[in-house]
Amino acid sequence: MFERLGTRGVDVGGLAVHRALPSRARRMVGAWCFLDHAGPAPASLAMRIGPHPHMGLQTFTWMIEGEVMHDDSLGNHQLVRPGEVNLMTAGRGIAHAEVSQPRPDGRLHAAQLWIALPEAQRHCAPGFAHYTALPGFERGGVRVTLLVGEMETLKAAPTVWSPLVGADCSAATRADAELVLEPRFEYAVLGLSGDVRVEGQALAPDELIYLGARRRTLRVASASGGHWLLVGGEPFAEPILLFWNFVARNGDEMVQAGADWNAQRRFGEVAGVDLPRLVAPDATGLRFKA
Ligand code: MN
Repeated sequence: MFERLGTRGVDVGGLAVHRALPSRARRMVGAWCFLDHAGPAPASLAMRIGPHPHMGLQTFTWMIEGEVMHDDSLGNHQLVRPGEVNLMTAGRGIAHAEVSQPRPDGRLHAAQLWIALPEAQRHCAPGFAHYTALPGFERGGVRVTLLVGEMETLKAAPTVWSPLVGADCSAATRADAELVLEPRFEYAVLGLSGDVRVEGQALAPDELIYLGARRRTLRVASASGGHWLLVGGEPFAEPILLFWNFVARNGDEMVQAGADWNAQRRFGEVAGVDLPRLVAPDATGLRFKA
């Protein structure tokens, strides 16, 4: 399986991003159900997302350049710096705001992914964790930083509830390496910048290639330097619905979640953020397809 998928341009709180998941052709890769790539962009396109809720998922932010302030309804106030992972477990409900911080070189580069929570965890209490030390290795000129899950002999610290992996891969110059994969996982690669080759095929920036499952290795290379993201996981066994900032199992749950947020119930409030609360769109009458 080698399926080339595009990304689409979306405006997120004033910042132009490329959305790789979900797409028409592919909704999920393992439990990964959402993948946005922001930047590299000048700070004039800063991200300012006011308080908004999440449910049934974990938000996973990987900061490459620039800084984003995270504030949530549990009272966490955390600056996310380059090389750090921010993992917020929404469970039955949480709210947060995400605001990029201006900096002199004017760059902002990040990926935000969402992880669908399985049935046993999706109603859990909300939580928040921040990780500053991530394991990694270098092979054939490719620098691999393990963001979550296990890869080869490494294990990353973030707590997730489905077998999955996320790795940041980069090459400063010419590079060529073979990575060992988990054959039970399905995988995809997203080009972030520069020149990347996957199994000998070019991977453009903001292109997603779905690689399917049953692969034992992956050949990655670059002629002059490049940066890409590898995501994978055990195919998610439950059909999910994704609407706005929520993951649910049926339309009634979606309608209720939006109504609860708009009525200031369930999710809590984000204090100390000088931005208006986002309004949940009404899901009443929408026909959801799992
Ligand atoms: Mn959010």
